[in-house]
Amino acid sequence: MRRTSTEWKSYLKEVCQRILGLRSSAEYEKCLDCECYFGLLFYLNKELIIVDDPSSNKIFKKILPKVFTEEEAQIHACLGCDPCPPAEWTTEMIEKLES
Ligand SMILES: [Zn+2]
Ligand SMILES: [Zn+2]
Repeated sequence: MRRTSTEWKSYLKEVCQRILGLRSSAEYEKCLDCECYFGLLFYLNKELIIVDDPSSNKIFKKILPKVFTEEEAQIHACLGCDPCPPAEWTTEMIEKLES
């Protein structure tokens, strides 16, 4: 998928929405301090800067506040959650970009 395609743009937005959903799910609360989650945000942020889509940026801003107020010490290695959605989505993003 090309970075310049509208398909990629809407896919990124979809990932932002999935993260919003994840944040309100008690089941995956533990994943929000997981290094996979921070890895996903880092990667997503990098892509969103390139795409610069106002509606995705708006959702991403909603995700960010919690992250940056957290003590860095709270970030822990992957707990091996199965599935670990942030880890899966990062892989998915990379695969889509390379395909
Ligand atoms: Zn996890
Ligand atoms: Zn993980």
